Amino acid sequence: MKEFVENFSKMMDYGFLGVYRRQKMSEENVQTRFVAALAKACGIGAFLNLKYELYKDGEPILPQTEYQMFKMFELPLAEIIDDLPEKYRHAVMEETNYYDIEALLEGIGNGKVIITEEGYIMLGERKLHASKDEIDQISEYNGQLIYEELCKGDYVKNRHFLECGENVYIPENAISQSEEQAKLIKAYPELFRMCYVKNTRTSLYRCKRCGMVLRENKIGVFSCVSQKCNAQLDKKIEIEMHGPGWVMNDIVARNIYYPGQLEQTIKKILETGKEIGTVEQYELWPGKHEGIYDTWDFKVQMNSGRILLVDAKDVENPHWIINDKREFLEGTEFIYVVPDDKSKIYMNQVNDHTNCVGKVQCLRVKELKKLIGVK
Ligand SMILES: [Zn+2]
Repeated sequence: MKEFVENFSKMMDYGFLGVYRRQKMSEENVQTRFVAALAKACGIGAFLNLKYELYKDGEPILPQTEYQMFKMFELPLAEIIDDLPEKYRHAVMEETNYYDIEALLEGIGNGKVIITEEGYIMLGERKLHASKDEIDQISEYNGQLIYEELCKGDYVKNRHFLECGENVYIPENAISQSEEQAKLIKAYPELFRMCYVKNTRTSLYRCKRCGMVLRENKIGVFSCVSQKCNAQLDKKIEIEMHGPGWVMNDIVARNIYYPGQLEQTIKKILETGKEIGTVEQYELWPGKHEGIYDTWDFKVQMNSGRILLVDAKDVENPHWIINDKREFLEGTEFIYVVPDDKSKIYMNQVNDHTNCVGKVQCLRVKELKKLIGVK
């Protein structure tokens, strides 16, 4: 039943994220037909109908097309939940809040709709709010789910765990697991389930450049999660296998592991800054005291009195930085730090954008070094 509720929730959330994107695109006259979140939501609807035999009068109950998805959101969600066979209806009512949600869309004629007040309230919910305007809504949404799960436990310890190259692959055989791996699986089964996928291959390779386990979608054809690595895959390293195991999934790789590598580099610079006296003190993930972790990675108190909020970002498309949600703090400067291999064009795209001018600065690692006074 857990799997059903989880998929049902994803169908609803992806569906509404997709509807929001579709609406926004039509307002801005963007000529793209494909909205990934909508397509995925319809796919989940079709999958659930088939798997759990959700039919009423011979018709599938859950939406399978974009049109049906929009129609569903034009009614209170209780309508569709009431159509479900009793045990599924009961599970959704017990474990989610969807039953009380009123219509999220309102038809205004000619097939056009607007998002209702209830719809905007739903979009204000943290995981939707954080992902609605991101290019890859689904990846960001799932990243948020992982953040929420991390916040339920020992955030700092578990985040470090996921940033560590040793943990991109975990053997199933308990004897072959490290002490930390065994502990995480035991103490945080839900987090573990969200972050890892089962591996059935008999041989696995690690990317020499970033340390991630390489994907092998076709036999002998390897790819890394990070596009940047794909030109240098000939230098892959074989992983010592101990039977079946689990591999870190792409969501964690993108949202936690890669930023983590850049964080380590920044941390070293700040440590050196402390030694030579340009940095008074710094704090990693300062939001941890307020229960908000993913605002900035570092709060740096400079000897000169300047206070820097530093966020490590390793993303391919500068738009992810330009349109990043930011929280500002009075009397501080907001700085994004990106890897040294980012081009001048990339840097200018961010720094010259109206969203950033006068508000945030984007620096490469080498420019951060200069700012901190570290060689
Ligand atoms: Zn790689």
